[in-house]
Amino acid sequence: MLKKRILSKVKRTINLASHLGINYSCPICGFKSKDLSPIGLDLPVLKEKQVIGAGRRIGGCYKCGSTDRDRLIYVYLRDKVNIFNNKSIKILHFAPERIIMNILMKSGLENYICGDLFTETYQYPDYVRNMNVLNIPFEDNYFDLILCNHLLEHVPADIDAMKEIYRVLKPNGEAMLQVPISKKFDKTIEDFSVTDPKERETLFGQFDHVRIYGQDYVDRLNSVGLKVERVNISKEYPKYGLNPEEDLFIGRK
Ligand SMILES: [Zn+2]
Repeated sequence: MLKKRILSKVKRTINLASHLGINYSCPICGFKSKDLSPIGLDLPVLKEKQVIGAGRRIGGCYKCGSTDRDRLIYVYLRDKVNIFNNKSIKILHFAPERIIMNILMKSGLENYICGDLFTETYQYPDYVRNMNVLNIPFEDNYFDLILCNHLLEHVPADIDAMKEIYRVLKPNGEAMLQVPISKKFDKTIEDFSVTDPKERETLFGQFDHVRIYGQDYVDRLNSVGLKVERVNISKEYPKYGLNPEEDLFIGRK
């Protein structure tokens, strides 16, 4: 057992060493590498619709496993929200990205709440609360910051979810609302009559997605009152291995 553990550790060290370099520097774990690992699903629909934030791409950190999106979220929170110097802000993190959640959990934030709609097949840490985005159990104008990434594409009533997010967001608060979005199509593609997981994967790029957003995604957010800023910070951080095409969608109240 011990021998096996040592052996796998040695293997990992050798493997990591083979990726050492100066092209990338992971903001999460500090690993400096010459390349990044392939991540994401290789599905024709994601390529055909030019879906940003999904699909097969080169974007994983060999050391910590962070994706390009994880690093984008992390850097925005660190440098633009200044989250680590602002410990008292009230944060709701929906469907939390593990790697981001682990960092925020350990960072001494005083009001950091994680929520996810529990499914039977998945194990959640005990600090994650079972929560439905269509019925957020908090009063109006409660949160300074809401993180809700890659969730809305799972929810048929996405406008109702956006309304709930707007409701619990404080005036001047901000919500980060990343979704897989087609670069090519203006109009969102959705069809709720499709319920077969395989068919959903073929049409929407994942077995439990109900749509692929088009550029009209912003109109949907606007329709519930959110003022949307589309931010691209990738140029500021050329070494972080961010996706140059991935904008942040920041909704404000
Ligand atoms: Zn890393």
